[in-house]
Amino acid sequence: MHHKTIAELSKELANKKISSVELTQLFLNRIKQHDEKLNSFITVTEDYALQTAKEADKTREAGKAGPLTGIPIAQKDIFCTDGIKTSCGSKMLDNFIAPYDATVVTNLKQAGTVMLGKTNMDEFAMGSSNESSYYGPARNPWNTEYVPGGSSGGSAAAVAASLIPGATGTDTGGSIRQPAGLCNITGLKPTYGRVSRYGMIAFASSLDQGGPFAKTVEDVAMLMNAMAGFDENDSTSINQPVPDYTATLNDSIKGIRIGLPKEYFNADLNSDVAKAIEAAIKEYEKMGAIIQEISLPNTHLSVPAYYVIAPAECSSNLARYDGVRYGYRCKDPKDLQDLYKRTRSEGFGNEVKRRIMIGTYALSSGYYDAYYLKAQKIRRLIRDDFNAAFNQVDVILSPTSPTPAFKIGEKTNDPLSMYLSDIYTIAVNLAGLPGIAVPAGFVNKLPIGLQLIGNLFGEAKLLNIAHWYQKATDWHTKIPEGF
Ligand code: GLN
Repeated sequence: MHHKTIAELSKELANKKISSVELTQLFLNRIKQHDEKLNSFITVTEDYALQTAKEADKTREAGKAGPLTGIPIAQKDIFCTDGIKTSCGSKMLDNFIAPYDATVVTNLKQAGTVMLGKTNMDEFAMGSSNESSYYGPARNPWNTEYVPGGSSGGSAAAVAASLIPGATGTDTGGSIRQPAGLCNITGLKPTYGRVSRYGMIAFASSLDQGGPFAKTVEDVAMLMNAMAGFDENDSTSINQPVPDYTATLNDSIKGIRIGLPKEYFNADLNSDVAKAIEAAIKEYEKMGAIIQEISLPNTHLSVPAYYVIAPAECSSNLARYDGVRYGYRCKDPKDLQDLYKRTRSEGFGNEVKRRIMIGTYALSSGYYDAYYLKAQKIRRLIRDDFNAAFNQVDVILSPTSPTPAFKIGEKTNDPLSMYLSDIYTIAVNLAGLPGIAVPAGFVNKLPIGLQLIGNLFGEAKLLNIAHWYQKATDWHTKIPEGF
């Protein structure tokens, strides 16, 4: 039962083969049995989950169940959950009980899902490996000595190991797509503004976007139906109707034009990953897609521009953690300066401090024009590159990462090499575009992700094209040994 997809579990619930309470208990047991190996959860909300499941069963009895009623899910610990610890992976918020629900949490609740807990993540979503979490690294179920990716590594590991059928994540520079790729599951980063950021703890506000993880494209479409939509509490939320993302999954993709950015297929791409991606391209050719080379000439500038813009925004967003309002406070401060200084020195980890220092430097007077303004101009050029590409093709295809998962500890002392592993995902955030990652094969038993990038609000088309790949292949059905 636990390896089933959300769509399958939804049918089991509808046919009364299992109740939501039973299903919830089953996944709670899975977490108890296996999470010691993975460290994918920060908080498990057992009582809350069983209570919610009971209500879901009542809703079904009353004949009011929807497709997600009674389905267990987990929330990345970046989403505020009313009355429940919301740590953002940081010592700073280790004692923080959120006073309200994020809109994503409310939406999924209203759709009838049952939250089983909050998943592990890089501190304040800064990282590509989950190693910056205050709660220790989450582990990759395909090989627990390897990282699951980050920053939403806990969600990805939990779904990949079938500890939960679906979960949320956030993606500022790749944090949904990269861990989905490294863990052999499906993850969607929606268009900026499609999913509300209200109650989603801010890292870099102009880049952050929440989205779903699940085993299949179909499941991701089901979760998106609940998560997406306008929210007046988020000033960057876009007021456009939400289509039924499951309705168009099987639309024909004959004649669809798929672009391959020549800058992505270079010497930095691991040759085994390249082979898997080439095989995926062949699949699409067989389905009648037209494959075409394109160019995104400013690709090499995306990582440098991101690592000015994201730290700049984070340095401003994280100024609120001052020991006064909420979160960690140092012991016995001498005076106000001492309170600020020691609270922040003791409460933040190294990666967060590094970003705050880079960000405040880039924003300081005298350097603002040279770094921040310049990075913003590059951001525009990157967006223009995509605009030009989407005049020629419908979607863009690439790997999600240049290599499969790396070992825990392998890159911790080399932040630059960690930053460079985001080369295929970061530009998408700078341009505000949607992107999806789907399983596409293995190298030495470690998963490889395929990325499809769409034009603004092109989620339905992306899901449609990715769904056809899952109809033609069975990578997404593979389960890690021992789980
Ligand atoms: N790995 C990138 C970073 O460290 C992206 C993180 C994210 O998308 N949240 O900033």
